[in-house]
Amino acid sequence: MIYHRPIQIEFNHCDPAGIVFFPRFYEMVSSVCENFHRDVGGLSYAQMMAAQQGVPTVRVETDFHAPVRLGQTLLRPHKVRFPCDQCGLQVHDPDAVHCKACGNLLCIPDEGR
Ligand SMILES: [Zn+2]
Repeated sequence: MIYHRPIQIEFNHCDPAGIVFFPRFYEMVSSVCENFHRDVGGLSYAQMMAAQQGVPTVRVETDFHAPVRLGQTLLRPHKVRFPCDQCGLQVHDPDAVHCKACGNLLCIPDEGR
């Protein structure tokens, strides 16, 4: 299952140059997680907290590849479904050579193979 939630980049996300201030990405990730649990799991964070439940974040690792500017919309990146036979990770970048989770060599078929 892939959860999809576009995010419109607003003025409050950006620095004076009109580029997203990088800590804002973590707020966006947090927002997507909260909405995912409400939309898919059927429980809001308020309901979860009232039930003394939660979704702790233990570790976050981020690679920044390009600046994101005011007015852009963040969409789910294009991924291909190809299960890693070592760890089971289901989705990868279309041009991935190695699994990002375990480093296993992948052989994702494309139109040229
Ligand atoms: Zn793997």
